[in-house]
Amino acid sequence: MNSQDPRTLQLAERLAVVKARIIAAQALVAPSGAAASETGGPTLIVVTKFHPGADVLRLRSLGVADVGENRDQEAAAKSLEVAAAGAAPLRWHFIGQLQKNKAKSVAAYAHSVQSIDRDSLITALANAMARERDFSVRDPLECFIQVDLSEAYADLGNGAGSDAPSLGRGGAAPSDVLKLAEQIAGSPHLRLAGVMAVAPLGQAPAPAFELLAAISARLVAEHPNARGISAGMSHDLEAAMAVGATHLRVGSDILGPRPVVL
Ligand SMILES: *Cc1c(COP(=O)(O)O)cnc(C)c1O
Repeated sequence: MNSQDPRTLQLAERLAVVKARIIAAQALVAPSGAAASETGGPTLIVVTKFHPGADVLRLRSLGVADVGENRDQEAAAKSLEVAAAGAAPLRWHFIGQLQKNKAKSVAAYAHSVQSIDRDSLITALANAMARERDFSVRDPLECFIQVDLSEAYADLGNGAGSDAPSLGRGGAAPSDVLKLAEQIAGSPHLRLAGVMAVAPLGQAPAPAFELLAAISARLVAEHPNARGISAGMSHDLEAAMAVGATHLRVGSDILGPRPVVL
């Protein structure tokens, strides 16, 4: 992709703005003045859903190595298109609701699945990865347990049995996280990476992210390597970094608005 192409320039500019926000937020998290580059900083996953494979190639030419997708059909096609174009290898992160019957397809291209919310999906992914690893040299699939954080807003009348509209954005109940973690840790084809969440719409994100950090601490107490916290999107990455997010998933602030789905 030509670096003078207007779309590439636009993506480069927006990527630079997001990276500057991350560095500014990092300075608040690590007030010793350690630069993001010294402490590693969070992994930026650029969410390319609804945008074409050509944009993934442009981002790759700008140094982006992690991309996120939320629909298998779209992600499978794009990952093939990008590989065929001879781009440097990318890590594809699956961040959307996933049906068991798509596990085999996702296992073929995904580096991580961040939206694990039930035991039957873990079984399907473990079986799919076992088959993948019969045929090719692959690391275990990185697994994040997606957590529903609506209970952080229980005082808004969103508790169990209430008639209030649900604030949930998908995911397992916090009380199910350790059980799902055991199951993931029990498969040699999966690697328990940590937790993931989306903050409720229309609410301040801090209570949700604080709950997520507490759930992460409980998880890490039993699984010391599962330190991942995937949280923070275009509008709330600073709030997620304030609680120690290790993975940010940023889409529209880099790629622009997503096309309207008909
Ligand atoms: C779309 C999506 C994102 C990116 O959201 P933006 O607001 O566009 O940054 C992050 N996480 C998940 C789970 C998503 O579906």
